[in-house]
Amino acid sequence: GNQHKAEANVLLLGAENVGKSALTVRFLTRRFIGEYGDIESIYSHIDKTDGRGIALNIWDSLYPQSCETTESISDKQLQWADGVILVYSICDRSSFEVVRQQVQLIRQTRKLSASTPIIIVGNKRDLLHQRAVSSEEGRLFALSADCGFFEISAAETYHGVQLVFHEILDLIKVSRALK
Ligand code: GDP
Ligand code: MG
Repeated sequence: GNQHKAEANVLLLGAENVGKSALTVRFLTRRFIGEYGDIESIYSHIDKTDGRGIALNIWDSLYPQSCETTESISDKQLQWADGVILVYSICDRSSFEVVRQQVQLIRQTRKLSASTPIIIVGNKRDLLHQRAVSSEEGRLFALSADCGFFEISAAETYHGVQLVFHEILDLIKVSRALK
């Protein structure tokens, strides 16, 4: 990570097709374009909401294909991250299980400092009629794992996406102040 620098590395994790790229692109451009392809990339963005300007690097990850044989998060990703956003889709039960596994993996391996903030995001909130994970279940799991929690729709609005990124930035600042 980048302790004491006006820079923050945010890692996006979660299963495929949950909207990690949609969240990233929505935050960076305020737009929702629909299809994003299978691209893994680190984007850099200057966020000026605190008046000072912080260089925010966002790692939009790809969920590995052969996840049974390899761990779904690399050491490199965890060493890089100052904060983690774990995304699932509220209409895809298995994507919620992936988030649960990834939280466990992160907490057990201790490759991420205990003070590094994690936020869990239930995306695709607009698809209410296809809901497979209740808000309550998401919120309770996040609470039990000491993670932040938001339900949003990257497709519908910029607002929720902005809240998530600003919350992780605030939490990163707090975690640095405590170190
Ligand atoms: P990733 O594999 O996690 O990066 O997922 P993508 O960002 O590529 O999104 C996967 C699919 O879900 C795409 O077809 C997106 O248009 C769609 N999608 C992403 N976010 C939302 C959302 O909030 N609501 C709906 N209805 N679809 C979404
Ligand atoms: Mg993607």
